[in-house]
Amino acid sequence: MALLSTKLLAETLDQCLVQRDRALRDVGVVPTLAAVLVKGDEASEVYFRSKRRLAKKLGIAFRGITLPADATTSELLRALRRSAEDPSVHGVFLEMPLPSTVDAERIRNAVPLEKDVDCVSDAAIGRVLTASSTVFDNGHSSVLPATPLAVMELLRRSGIPIAGKHAVVVGRSFTVGRPLALLLLAADATVTVCHSRTPDLSDHTRRADILCVAAGRPHLIGKDHVRKGAVLIDIGIHSSSAGLVGDIDTQAVVDHAAWVTPVPGGVGALTTRMIFANMLSAAESSADPRFANSDSRPQKEPPSS
Ligand code: NAP
Repeated sequence: MALLSTKLLAETLDQCLVQRDRALRDVGVVPTLAAVLVKGDEASEVYFRSKRRLAKKLGIAFRGITLPADATTSELLRALRRSAEDPSVHGVFLEMPLPSTVDAERIRNAVPLEKDVDCVSDAAIGRVLTASSTVFDNGHSSVLPATPLAVMELLRRSGIPIAGKHAVVVGRSFTVGRPLALLLLAADATVTVCHSRTPDLSDHTRRADILCVAAGRPHLIGKDHVRKGAVLIDIGIHSSSAGLVGDIDTQAVVDHAAWVTPVPGGVGALTTRMIFANMLSAAESSADPRFANSDSRPQKEPPSS
C-alpha cells in the first residue's frame, strides 16, 4: 500500500493554528473566519460543514453565513459587504461554485484583498503569479489559494522533491488547477497543464513524476494513466453510494504509484487548515504588520539591565 495519508500532518498543522490563534488572543484580537455558503451544491455544503467542525475543534471563531439556493447577486453582495466592513472579521471565504444565476465575477471581486483567504478576487489571484515561495520556516505561509497551498505543503512536508520533476496538473480552474501549476512552477518543476480539451490525456499523465488531479470527474485516472513510481495527488471529491471518492481510482493505482493521497483523508483535510492559516495571516497583519509574511514575529523587548 502506498497511501499518503494526511492525518499526522493535519494534527501538526492544528497545533500550529491553535498557537497562532492564542498568540493573537493574547494581544486582544479574536481571529475570525466568515464563510459564505449559497445552499444547493452538495460538495460546497460538505466543505462548509468541515470548516465549521474544524473551527469548533480548534476553538477558532467561525461565522457561517448561509443563503438560499435562489439568492440573488445583490443579496450575496450585501452578505459579503457586511463581513468585508466588519473589523472583527479577518478572513472571508466564499464557497464555490456559485449558482449560474448570479454574477460570479462581481461577487468574487467584492471580497476585499486583505480578507481574501482563498484568493478568489482578481487582485488576489495576481499574487499567485509572483509567488516565489509558499511557506516560511516558522510554519507561516503566504496568503495563497488554499487548495494549491495544501498540495504544496503536503509535498514539502512529506519530503517529496519538486525541483526538476515533471509535474502534470489535470484541471485549469482559477481556484485549483491554474494556481497549483504556477506554484509548482515556482518550486522549479517542469509543468504540463491538461484540461477537458486535451486529447489523449493519458499520454501526458503517464509522463508525470508528480500527477495532481483536479478535474471534478470521479475515478477519471486509472492505472493506465500512471507511470510506475509516480506521486499522485487526488484533489477531486465526490459523494457516491460508496461514500466519498476522488478523481483517481485509488485501488487501481495504489500498488503502481510511489504515493497516492486517499479520498477522504487526503488533500481536503489540509485545504480546510490552509483557509484558517490564511485567515490567521490576515489577522496577524492587521494586528501588527510585523507579523505579516515574515519570519520575524514581534519579539519581546530584552530585559533592561
Ligand atoms: P472545476 O472548476 O469544475 O474545474 C475542473 C477542471 O477540470 C476544468 O479545467 C476542466 O477543463 C477539467 N476537466 C474536466 N473534465 C476533464 C477531463 N475529462 N479531462 C481533463 N480535464 C478535465 O473544478 P475545481 O473547482 O477545480 O475542482 C475540481 C475538483 O476538486 C472537484 O471535484 C472539487 O470538488 C474538488 N476540490 C477539492 C478541494 C479539496 O480541498 N480537496 C478543494 C477544491 C475543489 P476545462 O477548463 O476545459 O473545462
